[in-house]
Amino acid sequence: MTLFKKILIANRGEIAARLIRACHELNIRAVAIYSEADANALHVRMADESILIGPPAPRESYLDMDRIIQAAKEINADAIHPGYGFLSENERFASAVADSGLIFIGPSPRAIHLMGSKTEARTIMQNSGVPIVPGFQAMNNETMNNEQWARQAEKIGYPILVKAAAGGGGKGMRIVRSASELSEAIAAAQREASHAFGDDRVFLEKYIDSPRHIEFQVLADSHGNIVHLFERECSIQRRHQKIIEETPSPLLTPEMRAKMGEAAVAAAKAVGYVNAGTVEFIVDSKTREFYFLEMNTRLQVEHPITEAITGIDLAQAQINIAAGKHLPFKQNDLHQRGHAIECRVYAEDPANEFLPSIGKVLRAVEPTRAGVRVDAGVHTGDEVSIHYDPMIAKVIAHAETRDAAIRKMDAALAEYTLLGLTTNTPFLRAVVTHPAFVRGDVTTHFIEDHLRDWKLPKVKDELLIAKAVAEFLGSDHRSITNYQLPTTNDVWDATDGFRLGGGGAIENRSHEAK
Ligand code: ADP
Ligand code: ADP
Ligand code: MG
Repeated sequence: MTLFKKILIANRGEIAARLIRACHELNIRAVAIYSEADANALHVRMADESILIGPPAPRESYLDMDRIIQAAKEINADAIHPGYGFLSENERFASAVADSGLIFIGPSPRAIHLMGSKTEARTIMQNSGVPIVPGFQAMNNETMNNEQWARQAEKIGYPILVKAAAGGGGKGMRIVRSASELSEAIAAAQREASHAFGDDRVFLEKYIDSPRHIEFQVLADSHGNIVHLFERECSIQRRHQKIIEETPSPLLTPEMRAKMGEAAVAAAKAVGYVNAGTVEFIVDSKTREFYFLEMNTRLQVEHPITEAITGIDLAQAQINIAAGKHLPFKQNDLHQRGHAIECRVYAEDPANEFLPSIGKVLRAVEPTRAGVRVDAGVHTGDEVSIHYDPMIAKVIAHAETRDAAIRKMDAALAEYTLLGLTTNTPFLRAVVTHPAFVRGDVTTHFIEDHLRDWKLPKVKDELLIAKAVAEFLGSDHRSITNYQLPTTNDVWDATDGFRLGGGGAIENRSHEAK
């Protein structure tokens, strides 16, 4: 028996849909909130009840703390789940929820506060014996002049990464290769941080040249029990944002895994962490040394791959922990089963500088095969608007081995029909089938190194379109797939009366008219 009868989900898109499913499996009623842009959105259709919060702009809807808490009270919710992004790492929101007599499904405001500042977190980690990236941060808001920054940068040694203390989502970061670029980079990072986070404090880190991003999932209950659920390798990134994640990491030996898992648990313990969280490390692929990057005090986008290999539902675990339950397992009960990969599907055009693509989803048909999970935020008929994150779905493939998981992912992405928008699925396929990825030879520079000038493979895409058109027309698309498209002539430009599934001709009547 759980203590909650009704949970309000303070989010939208795929994560709101995923959390509503978790509630339903626990026999809890789920309440959706929505903005005017989302009145008919998937998460609203799935919820048991829903409440209009405000206009499309996040600041007036999904970020309006008072309005959201008021809505939760009005509808008699017991708890609020923030999802990720939006208010999930906002300590003021976590406090306000608690002050209003509701339960915040996540860590304490104090833990959010301590880990919300990358500099504060670095200090705590250092004091707890968790390795941090060599770097420099100013003491207690001390203002630094250019010479002082330059001296500290010299000590660390170039290249240097300037980072925002309040950073997140890959924002407020600048790589500096030499002393002459430093002051400009600091000013730019300060501007970006001030704009994105309302906090212009920055610090310096040694820039690790060929790094891998490897993070550990932790779960802690309110009775002092804490475990890690192994790693996720998230090295495939674009602009410091993850796009493909996998577990286990092809890099880790059992010894490294044990050491990093212990460090992750120590990091969480250092702030009295309760609920689900992720400790991110950066690993130098040359020396294999690992360093603490930051802790994300929320459920992560890539949590499903951990669920796949451990068999543990992390969203349900979060709810149970918030309800005061004990973790039903100990570290030794946890095992990694098989290999899981997640691809983030974005409504964007990878062949055109990844420009966002908006519009109506004319048709969505999700892959259906064993071992594949799709967490989508849109179905046929839904709108993708300019107002929110362009990530519209996640495809997760789970198989016995890494090779099998890669093949399953490629097949699933090929099978995923999303019409009406441009999506990055062909690009994702190019990554997972790339020989370097298949070898497990990845760093955070993978895309720049291997796929910078990627273009949409032409003929294959025509086959996809033909298949989709056939599905639209309700015909048997197998015959279309077998149809050999002319490789020299683009059928869509041809004017010879081409018809799917059969030949055709148009008589030239223009002469007759004369
Ligand atoms: P994860 O580590 O779970 O993959 P991401 O860093 O991709 O998370 O962030 C998930 C979502 O939350 C993205 O939409 C990202 O832009 C947003 N986000 C993350 N951190 C912040 C932040 N501090 N401020 C604003 N948005 C953020
Ligand atoms: P955010 O809060 O934006 O997620 P992180 O500190 O987690 O910021 O860093 C995001 C990404 O930036 C990392 O996954 C990595 O690719 C890159 N990065 C961060 N710190 C370093 C570093 N010291 N050296 C090299 N790359 C880094
Ligand atoms: Mg991060």
